[in-house]
Amino acid sequence: MGLVQVIALGGVGEIGKNCSVVREDDDIVVVDCGLSFPNEEMLGIDIVVPDFTYLVENKEKVRGVFITHAHEDHVGGLPYLLAQIDVPIYCTEFTQALIKNKLEEKLPHKKIDIRIFKPGDRIAAGKLEVEPVRVTHSIPENCSMAVRTSHGIVFFTGDFKFDFTPVDGKLANITRIGELGQEGVLLLLSDSTNVERPGWGPSERVVSEGLRSVFAEAEGRVLLTTFASNIHRMQQVYEVAAEMGRKVAVVGRRMEQNLDTCERMGYVKIPKGTRIDLRDTKMFPDKQLAILTTGSQGEPMSALVQMSKGEYGRLQVKQGDTLIYSARPIPGNEGAIWRTINRLFNQGCRVIYDSAKPIHVSGHAYQEELKMMINLTRPYYIAPVHGEPRHQFLYNKIAGDMGYPQHRMFTMKDGIPLCMDDTSASFGERVPCGRVLVDNSGTPGVPDEVLRDRNNVANDGIVVITIPVDTTTGQMAGDPEIQARAFSGPEGILNAAYDVLFDALSALSKDELKDTTRVKHDAGDVVKRLIQKRTGLRPLVLPIVVEV
Ligand SMILES: [Zn+2]
Ligand SMILES: [Zn+2]
Repeated sequence: MGLVQVIALGGVGEIGKNCSVVREDDDIVVVDCGLSFPNEEMLGIDIVVPDFTYLVENKEKVRGVFITHAHEDHVGGLPYLLAQIDVPIYCTEFTQALIKNKLEEKLPHKKIDIRIFKPGDRIAAGKLEVEPVRVTHSIPENCSMAVRTSHGIVFFTGDFKFDFTPVDGKLANITRIGELGQEGVLLLLSDSTNVERPGWGPSERVVSEGLRSVFAEAEGRVLLTTFASNIHRMQQVYEVAAEMGRKVAVVGRRMEQNLDTCERMGYVKIPKGTRIDLRDTKMFPDKQLAILTTGSQGEPMSALVQMSKGEYGRLQVKQGDTLIYSARPIPGNEGAIWRTINRLFNQGCRVIYDSAKPIHVSGHAYQEELKMMINLTRPYYIAPVHGEPRHQFLYNKIAGDMGYPQHRMFTMKDGIPLCMDDTSASFGERVPCGRVLVDNSGTPGVPDEVLRDRNNVANDGIVVITIPVDTTTGQMAGDPEIQARAFSGPEGILNAAYDVLFDALSALSKDELKDTTRVKHDAGDVVKRLIQKRTGLRPLVLPIVVEV
């Protein structure tokens, strides 16, 4: 019997880009393949995906990628993985419906191998076996993944909560989770996002109550923004709107697409006559209208953000509108979200973003639910995932309070394998791992130096030095020049920079002047150092040698 290794290629010590590997000998199973969103310092970066080098290097061993659910932090990396290796994707029919279009758009020439599973199926993957188990979350058809190894089950909870009145009525299969616990869970990898919240999280169902009361009080139109994948929330809006005599229109391409797909597949049941086209909203008084919109994360191109700026041609926000902010800000997006909310207030729209009435509930387990998962699975080893270091720390403390000894709890780090056999578990040698930055054109692999330069330009501007040199004689062919853009230092600073530049160039011998790399290096260096010393600014300094 071989060693079982569990490696997170993303998703531990952070929230986002979830991607984990279970390996036993020559068989590898991947669970999820997500993306994360850039932070404020990642200028010009659209998304961040895991570095898949480990999977590329071991591509003949990868038996499949098993998707727990269709949220971007679990599926958004797929196009970038599939661009590098051929591997079957296993997911539910619902997940497939949400990801297929996107994969085909991004990889038009690729034949994508998607295989559908149902919760309870047992899927062979080399000597490993994967069994998805239904659990509740904020999206339909969400699964935990039980990966059977020869030393026991590696159980990924995936994103979960225990919701006994879910919108679609489909409960978590607690019985099966308990049975797997009986069979023997070697390692539990648990969602830890909400470990700071005591007690038991509220059911999705309570949101309907909150919506009902906001709908009743609203004087004009009701707008609601949420994630385009939040199918349950859309269902609730349609139900409440129908009760209250309002028609619902949808703005935002992805949201419309998802709603169409889900309605066709029966995951959303829209009361007859409730859904209308945006164009037809003119036919109804404001009091009879509701509008669903994307843009809950302040995305610049989204309908809501454009509406808040008065730049959305198809719909204008106006006095008397009420917007329900029914989502959770993803860390890093707060600034853009507040700016959007403030602009909406300026336009006379009342925004309900944090209210005593529940207008959003989290899809992740609170403390008591996390304990219940531990109790059901009764794992030998335990490791929190889907959390930042503070979440991992607190989760292990809670497990410790439940009696878990220190040597059976682990704090995983991206790229460090947890190696287990029948008698022991310990961390192994780091595998290639990291983040890959994808720019706004969709091209992956923006290097860190580029990002550093962008930040320097964005913060302190750019200084261009032009040096005319006759490289055959090794003499200056004119005076150097310094130009600056987006740079604003104290008066005289560029003159001072010019003086040190002039001195540095004068000090170079003929042979040194013939060496353009040397000239660029010396010129850039003295100017950079002077500006930094005198002003503390770090503009991007770009020396150019003009050979004449
Ligand atoms: Zn999720
Ligand atoms: Zn997630």
